[in-house]
Amino acid sequence: MNTTTRADAGPGTLADRFEAAFGAAPDGVWAAPGRVNLIGEHTDYNEGFVLPFAIDKRAATAVRLRDDSTVRVLSTAGDQGLAEADTADLSPGAVTGWAKYPLGVVWALQQRGIEVPGFDLLLDSDVPLGAGLSSSHAIECAVVTALNELTGSGLGPEEMVTLTQHAENAFVGAPTGIMDQSASLRGASGHAVFLDCRDQSVELVPFRAQEAGLVLLVIDTKVAHSHADGGYASRRASCELGAQVLGVTALRDVAAADLEEARGLLDPLTFRRVRHVVTENDRVLQTVATLRSQGPAHIGRLLDASHASMRDDFEISCPELDLAVDAARRHGAIGARMTGGGFGGSAIALTAGRDERRVRGAVVRAFAEAGFTAPDIFTVTPAAGAGRLP
Ligand code: ADP
Ligand code: MG
Repeated sequence: MNTTTRADAGPGTLADRFEAAFGAAPDGVWAAPGRVNLIGEHTDYNEGFVLPFAIDKRAATAVRLRDDSTVRVLSTAGDQGLAEADTADLSPGAVTGWAKYPLGVVWALQQRGIEVPGFDLLLDSDVPLGAGLSSSHAIECAVVTALNELTGSGLGPEEMVTLTQHAENAFVGAPTGIMDQSASLRGASGHAVFLDCRDQSVELVPFRAQEAGLVLLVIDTKVAHSHADGGYASRRASCELGAQVLGVTALRDVAAADLEEARGLLDPLTFRRVRHVVTENDRVLQTVATLRSQGPAHIGRLLDASHASMRDDFEISCPELDLAVDAARRHGAIGARMTGGGFGGSAIALTAGRDERRVRGAVVRAFAEAGFTAPDIFTVTPAAGAGRLP
């Protein structure tokens, strides 16, 4: 890897900027969105249900195949410069910096026996980094969509989900599931992605907050979250222990009605963690049913209950997330919860449009009074999944 140039982040289309950087027009531009999880936290690795949606913030990649095996990638963000690699010597751990995401996809395609030629790539993403909106998966999903088309591989969305998971787990080294890629690759405008993590089946569920006069606010607490620390691993271990003691394949197989019986079989800590997963799974199903029968204005209590469960039972919240949720709720949000893996990242607050300013102001004030770093607050709407841009 060497740094030789910078992307021109100035005006013009991404194709124009690609041409300015690489000296020829791209073969095309492909984009993939970030995601927000509406509900269903830490249920994925328990073979349960999640309900994320693709957001109107995305990673766009302009790509041009080369006739040698060189890959050059450049981002309009920051001053990371140009990274260069050869498709013939990719191996897990060998690539550092953001290039590991596009190159991880190349490596995973190769692992499937798909030959990938060299290419030039310019990335332009407005998915905020490290806010729990999956900026890294947005890159991977844009790249796999581009290379799938350019190499004529004919992979379907489910195969691309599995492939990017392999890239993220084995090449990047992050122990993530299939939720983020499924939302990014299989999302649809105006819909949430109801995903069964056991068999990867997906149903699109209408989530038209705007039509109901609502906005979904994302409150980025700016607290760094990390999957690598022990918090995540210890939650997974508790879930595995719970499933083992209760004699089920995964906690997905425990019904909410059977929790009281489970209490007597588990130590108090494991029981609370099991209770979070079991009740959270149930809340996803209730949210789907409520969205279908009554609409988004009626899911507030489920969002609130989800947050309480993560705060008290699963213990993955933090003071900033709790404050964001409490301030939003006290000043008019109809429901709020932390979203993502926990210990930082973002909260979401479902709010009537007329209360948006009040809720935003209240959260900003509460953070200032507590001496916390000012949060970033913005709205998201359910957008289309990955694809080629015209
Ligand atoms: P997230 O929750 O946003 O996915 P990660 O730590 O998994 O957080 O991924 C963030 C990483 O993705 C960054 O450190 C960077 O390497 C890469 N990344 C995201 N967006 C960009 C971008 N626009 N340009 C370059 N790299 C990016
Ligand atoms: Mg990520």
